[in-house]
Amino acid sequence: MSVLVLMEDGDVGQQTLSLARVWGNVHTVRMDAITPFAPDALAAVLQRAADDLDARAVFAAGTDRGNEVMGRLAARTGLPFAASVVAADPSGSVTRQRWGGSLLETAAMPGSRLLMSVAPYAIRAGDGPAPTAVDVSRYIDELDPRDRVVQVKEHIDPPGGGVSLAEAKVVVSGGRGVGSKEGFAIIEELAGLLGGRVGCSRVVTSAGWRPHTDQVGQTGTKISPDLYIACGISGATQHMAGCKGAKKILAINADPEAPIMSLADYSVVGDLKEVVPAISAEIRKSR
Ligand SMILES: Cc1cc2nc3c(=O)[nH]c(=O)nc-3n(C[C@H](O)[C@H](O)[C@H](O)COP(=O)(O)OP(=O)(O)OC[C@H]3O[C@@H](n4cnc5c(N)ncnc54)[C@H](O)[C@@H]3O)c2cc1C
Repeated sequence: MSVLVLMEDGDVGQQTLSLARVWGNVHTVRMDAITPFAPDALAAVLQRAADDLDARAVFAAGTDRGNEVMGRLAARTGLPFAASVVAADPSGSVTRQRWGGSLLETAAMPGSRLLMSVAPYAIRAGDGPAPTAVDVSRYIDELDPRDRVVQVKEHIDPPGGGVSLAEAKVVVSGGRGVGSKEGFAIIEELAGLLGGRVGCSRVVTSAGWRPHTDQVGQTGTKISPDLYIACGISGATQHMAGCKGAKKILAINADPEAPIMSLADYSVVGDLKEVVPAISAEIRKSR
């Protein structure tokens, strides 16, 4: 049995391969087969490659781009699509995350060809036979120009540049407790000292204190750093959906009863405006 994978670099690509290998012979089309990124064009290439391979399933990583291409592939083919999958077998039984990962749903997925995106960082990447790369040149030559109408025109690096929020080893986030846009100076300072990235809660992006690209959570970025430092964040379910992949969580909160305090590995009860600069000062002293 053949399956097709829309292949991304990094851990998420390897995790997708691991799930696909359970199904049989894996063939891949790279996400950067078409540059600049054009989701309809990629969907068209996947459609033709899957037809030629008679693929039983098409997989992608559950990234923004992976889900976008798969959504468009589902729309143009009428095939069923399950997002945020964590387990799937060729009988059509699929387990996927719902409600930002708070619920696992197992369901029978009907259809001759199944489309799935794999929840990032939810499954372990394992070894296995190397996949076969599909020669996509013919499909690209024969693309309908309308499939290139939607494409990336410009790339603007997020403030801070460097490593992305999703891949950062340390993330220092601020919530409503930070109090203002200017209040993030101490969060930025600590993140800088730890070589990490700044994150935030949705309250913060809604208030315009930080850009949406910094938001951690169900409707933001899902992160899996070695250390997540949450400052002045209460720990709402929708926020925790984005950071539960963190290996360790340190919460700094004035309220010992805040939900995040029982979800964190370490907690400090106190005013973040005192605690965060104190941590930065200690780090400086130790260097
Ligand atoms: C459909 C949906 C999707 C959502 N998606 C997301 C999402 O992706 N990400 C997200 O974050 N939220 C999301 N939310 C919003 C979420 O429900 C919460 O409203 C939000 O996470 C709360 O942000 P917060 O913790 O910063 O604010 P609050 O809940 O108001 O908490 C502020 C915390 O700061 C503490 N604090 C105050 N002052 C200080 C101080 N000086 N020092 C230390 N601590 C202090 C308080 O004790 C409190 O615990 C979503 C909501 C919905 C309905």
